[in-house]
Amino acid sequence: MAEVVESEPEISIDADWDAMYVDGEWNRAEDRDRIDVLNPSTGETIGSVPSAATEDVDAAYEAATRAQSEWAKTTPDKRAAVVRRVAELIEEYEDGIREILAVEGGSARPKQDIEYGGTVTFVHDAASFAFRMSGRHNQSKIPGKENIIQRKPAGVVGVISPWNVPLKLSIRAVAPAIALGNSVVLKPAEDTPIAGGLLIARLFEMAGLPDGVLNVVPGDGKTAGDRTASHPASDVVAFTGSTEAGKLVGKNAVEHFAFPALELGGNNPQVVLEDADLDQAVDAGVFGSFWHQGQVCISINRHLVHEDVYDEYASRLAERASELKIGDPTDDDDVIIGPIINESQRDGILEYIEQTVEAGATLETGGNADGLFVEPTVLTGVENSMPAACNEHFGPVAPIIPFETEEEAIELANDTDYGLSASVHSADRGRARDVADQIEAGMMHINDQTVNVEPHTPFGGTKSSGIGNYNGDWIIDEFTEVRWTSVQREPRGYPF
Ligand code: NAD
Repeated sequence: MAEVVESEPEISIDADWDAMYVDGEWNRAEDRDRIDVLNPSTGETIGSVPSAATEDVDAAYEAATRAQSEWAKTTPDKRAAVVRRVAELIEEYEDGIREILAVEGGSARPKQDIEYGGTVTFVHDAASFAFRMSGRHNQSKIPGKENIIQRKPAGVVGVISPWNVPLKLSIRAVAPAIALGNSVVLKPAEDTPIAGGLLIARLFEMAGLPDGVLNVVPGDGKTAGDRTASHPASDVVAFTGSTEAGKLVGKNAVEHFAFPALELGGNNPQVVLEDADLDQAVDAGVFGSFWHQGQVCISINRHLVHEDVYDEYASRLAERASELKIGDPTDDDDVIIGPIINESQRDGILEYIEQTVEAGATLETGGNADGLFVEPTVLTGVENSMPAACNEHFGPVAPIIPFETEEEAIELANDTDYGLSASVHSADRGRARDVADQIEAGMMHINDQTVNVEPHTPFGGTKSSGIGNYNGDWIIDEFTEVRWTSVQREPRGYPF
């Protein structure tokens, strides 16, 4: 039997994270396989955590099921207070949390700022959800009848999250689920079990969440992830990750009638019309392609640029890309380009670049890697069918595709299975809106780039980019169920 350890209320990369968290206990599970946690900048092993087996996920679901009904009965102010306390703790432990994001996740300062800052705002907002499960009274066509529509928690929410923005993308599901009276089983990504999972368990434990309401089981996708999605006790499976894995997760969830909340991949276009403010468009292009090394579902995957401004846009983007500082974010706050998360991701990015050049594109800058550090890369003469354009490359790569007409830009933008985020630049905002309205994407930004998230606006994709939306009222819908109760206040006449 595995050893149960006392948790250390410490938030830093050097704290003891070597356990899974089930039913309020930190369990070393020493007989399980291990997941090594690496610093991608140095290749150094920071530590290791147990890799949950199917039975550990089962134990987590049992604990979550036991805890959920009591938690749902607590008053909204109590649930809100726990979530609010988590937000305060995140503020108190800012340095330790930033360190974890930098060391485990390779996050440079601008990535930390947005992930850390966004998490604080988001968790504060999520605390309010406890009071926002509103119902309503509806009219009835039956004389003397009252219709009451109530919202109640969905039940147990299984959460599976990715490594790229691990804290934010796990907590954007966990905090609302808990505020709304659900319990949670969280399976973080293999590369970031601390930021995406164990850190969140510790914060909620410190905030006084009752045992079993949140359970965290680090593990691999095929075992722990598959069981998290397939477990019959889950009522919602909230998955953020690739479209490929999301398809399987969705099928497994629906198999036992759990609601599949799926946030998947993207191939996001930035469209630059010939009348665009080029300074603004290039600034947006640099940020949207290279923030967090392009390892972002909503980063600019393709730049579609009108032929009249193509050369100017491309040369400015390449110059700016070549100036971005590359390095270990823990050494230097001025670093913009940190490491790619692991070798397999790096190899995939380099392969897309190589294949695209082989297919006839020109490498304007970048294209090389030193360890896990891939140079910001700009490719011109790109066609939509080339590998770096038709695939989600998930790296610091900016393929630039020329177009002649608005119709062609729209056709190119939509020529992908994905539909997550997009942007259109034009000095004529009405024209930009007309083009934008014809682009298939769940999120659209005029005269800005594609990487935008706000706690109270819907976040989600169309086509193969997912099902449903996170944030604000939209996540309240996904993590609650409606129930219709009718009350007959006077005797009713029946036809027989
Ligand atoms: P991934 O799909 O490989 O892994 C995501 C999570 O799913 C991990 O925790 C993994 O262990 C788990 N998983 C893998 N296979 C599974 C399976 N068969 N059953 C259950 N769980 C499984 O994705 P990734 O490489 O971690 O992240 C990158 C991908 O995520 C990109 O495609 C990116 O666009 C997407 N993403 C989407 C959003 C969004 O909000 N739409 C946000 C971030 C990342």
